[in-house]
Amino acid sequence: MDGNTYRKKKGSGGSKAAAEMSQAADRKKLNAASDKRLDRLSPSTSTATSRALTSKDPRLSMLKPEENHHKASRSAAPDNNNSNVESETDSDESDISGSDGEDTSWISWYCNLRGNEFFCEIDDGYIQDDFNLCGLSSLVPYYDYALDLILDVESSHGDMFTEEQNEVIESAAEMLYGLIHVRYILTTKGLAVMQEKHKNAEFGRCPRVYCCGQPCLPVGQSDIPRQSTVKIYCPKCEEIYTPRSRYQDSIDGAYFGTTFPHLFLMSYGHLKPQKSSQSYVPRVFGFKVHKP
Ligand SMILES: [Zn+2]
Repeated sequence: MDGNTYRKKKGSGGSKAAAEMSQAADRKKLNAASDKRLDRLSPSTSTATSRALTSKDPRLSMLKPEENHHKASRSAAPDNNNSNVESETDSDESDISGSDGEDTSWISWYCNLRGNEFFCEIDDGYIQDDFNLCGLSSLVPYYDYALDLILDVESSHGDMFTEEQNEVIESAAEMLYGLIHVRYILTTKGLAVMQEKHKNAEFGRCPRVYCCGQPCLPVGQSDIPRQSTVKIYCPKCEEIYTPRSRYQDSIDGAYFGTTFPHLFLMSYGHLKPQKSSQSYVPRVFGFKVHKP
C-alpha cells in the first residue's frame, strides 16, 4: 500500500529527464489501475473511515493515529478536503503528505516514510550489480518487477497485472529492499552511510540512565525474515532495546541482521565507547537489597 502512494505521486507530475517522460506515461497507466484499487479497497477495509475522510467527519479524530496515517495517505491525492483534518490529527507527518515526491526516487521515498528512518539509501549501482543480489530471486515473489520498482525502471508489463498482483509487487519491493539492505550495510560504502546516521544519533539513544544518551545501532535478533522486529543495540552497556517509535518497532529485524552493529564497531573502533562502569544498585532505606 505504501508503494501505491509513491506511484500516485510519481504519476502526478513530470520527471526530471526527458528519457523519463515515457516512463511517466506508463506510470500514469499504472496509477489508473491502483486508483481503481483504492476505490475498491477503502470501503472494504473500513467503510466508516473512508466516509469520514471525504466528509471531514469529526469522528476521524477518534481514529487511532496509525489507522489515520494509512487512510490519509491512501486517499490524499484526489481531493484536498481532508488536508486540514490530516494536519490536525497527523501533525508530524510532514514526510509523506507534505512533500511532493515528483522527483523522488522510490528508494528515497521509501527511506523517508515514517518508521523507515533506520534504513539507509542503498546506492543504485549496488542494486544493479546482479552479484550483490545473488539468491534473492528465490525469496521474493515477482522479483523482477519488485526490482524494477525499486530502481524506478518502468516495466512494460504493468498493465497485465491485477490490482492484487500490483499490491503484492509493492510489498515484494519492500521486502527485496530490506534483503538488499542487510547486505549493503555490511559493505564499506554501506557502513560509511550508516556511520553518518549513527553520528546524528538517527538510530536513537540508549534508554539506560548510566549510558548517558549513548547513540545506538540497529540490530536484528535473527537473519531470517519475519522472526522478530528491529532492535537497537547500545555499544556501551551491550544490551538491546526496543526502538522508541512504534513505527520503527514494526520493521523486520532481518533487514538489519545480527552482524551489523558488531562489524560496524570493528570497522570504526574509535566509535566503540568505554564499557559502562556504573550500574544501578537497588536500596531500601539506603541499604543495599540482599539477593536471596
Ligand atoms: Zn546502554
